[in-house]
Amino acid sequence: MKRYIKTSCVFANATKTIGSNYVPSKDEILNGDATYGGLPVIYHPEIPSDARNMDSEIWVSDKFFTYSHSGQQHILNHEVAHNLSDELMNEHLGDWNEFASYFITEKQAPETSQAYKNGKRTYWEGLYGDIGATSLSETTTHAITEYLDNPNGLKRRSEEAYSIIDEFMTRRFNL
Ligand SMILES: [Zn+2]
Repeated sequence: MKRYIKTSCVFANATKTIGSNYVPSKDEILNGDATYGGLPVIYHPEIPSDARNMDSEIWVSDKFFTYSHSGQQHILNHEVAHNLSDELMNEHLGDWNEFASYFITEKQAPETSQAYKNGKRTYWEGLYGDIGATSLSETTTHAITEYLDNPNGLKRRSEEAYSIIDEFMTRRFNL
């Protein structure tokens, strides 16, 4: 599996909002005054999704404002968790295969599947199912989001993933 390497990380001041019930208001976002988890939250109506992680910024569209307070918080936690996931993965370049195995497993493609007919004998599946081409990154991101939103849910799904993230978050934020 390809190793995930990214050196830039601007995630500096997350304790201010991580774990609290705060979500920036629409006014704060439209005025350019919003941050979440240390990242500026910027209004970009042209993006097709509700939100996007731009490494050093989170972009949100009009769709973002249609969600409830807790829905918006979940989206922002997910986008911030992408930066934390990058850091976490960078820490595990030395034990990459073992690390990855707690979040994503290689499975045999069923003989009846289209993938098998196309010549693919295996596929990768994350803790939360097959969530696309970048699924290790999305899986660790989703696991960190669940750690923030519903830690017992993550623990039930995978004790190992929980303890890796718990150790990381405790150290990262002096929890
Ligand atoms: Zn994502």
